[in-house]
Amino acid sequence: MGVSLEQRFQGCLCGLAVGDALGGRFEAQSAEHLRQRFSNVDSLINYVTDEIWYTDDTQMTIAIAEVLADHGEILEEPLCAAFVANYVPSRGYGRGARMVIEAMEDGEDHRAVARKHFPGGSYGNGAAMRVAPVGLIFQGNSEELLKQAEFSSLPTHVHPLGIEGAQLIAAAVAYVTKTTSFDRADFFSYLLSHCQSEDHRAKLAAAAKVELVEQLAKLGNGIEALESVPTAIASFALTPDSYTETIGNVILLGGDTDTLAAMAGAISGAYLGIEGIPARLLKHLEESAKGRSYIMDLAKRLFQRHQETSVSR
Ligand SMILES: [Mg+2]
Repeated sequence: MGVSLEQRFQGCLCGLAVGDALGGRFEAQSAEHLRQRFSNVDSLINYVTDEIWYTDDTQMTIAIAEVLADHGEILEEPLCAAFVANYVPSRGYGRGARMVIEAMEDGEDHRAVARKHFPGGSYGNGAAMRVAPVGLIFQGNSEELLKQAEFSSLPTHVHPLGIEGAQLIAAAVAYVTKTTSFDRADFFSYLLSHCQSEDHRAKLAAAAKVELVEQLAKLGNGIEALESVPTAIASFALTPDSYTETIGNVILLGGDTDTLAAMAGAISGAYLGIEGIPARLLKHLEESAKGRSYIMDLAKRLFQRHQETSVSR
């Protein structure tokens, strides 16, 4: 497969944005309702005939990618500043995230606000949904990848299960970015070797056993990292050669459709490259100030930063 590394960077960010934007149309709907509307993935994809707008998932991913492109690593202050600079509350932020980012904006102790809103820390998928750029930049260094994924989580997610969800998505992106011929067993054993908790290990082991689209639903479609990260990973592993099947199959599960499709789309795009995303879907991605062209350019900047740092290391 002749996909360049730069195309994979673009595929990852655009794959995430398109998945998020399409999934965002159906957030919180039930699988039954979606199955009545769309008999298959093709009918879901063909539904897109006008501009699709991304949600908080892409907006926060853009913030992380900007920090990595500028600094080559996650630094807390620039990251919080980027979350604030990119913040548009109407993009579907959860209530807790809104409170934390608004505390950052007002110069308050945002960690205290996060602790108050999520006692013990959030184990939601909010850190996993935005972590993909970390997987791109640190694809060659597992230890650094896990550390940087954690740093990117901490401003909003301190619960170990929330952090681990982010680490697993970053690891999945890193793995596929380096792969030309997908080996399902090797992919899952790589991810299992990055697990920290029994909870995630058990869920990933279940994901590794999913061999039919009909079995995806049992992995979950919720906002907890444990109920969505393994589902997104399993969907990619079922259909590694099809971007539309990978995002379509998780959207048709209903529930947290934007984040499921953002995570699955990021992994798929990092594997297939930008050419793997159908041009007609990409064409409909919003062309706002930080829309399609900006995201493509940001992916290029990220790629250049990766090239520079991997040469200097
Ligand atoms: Mg969202």
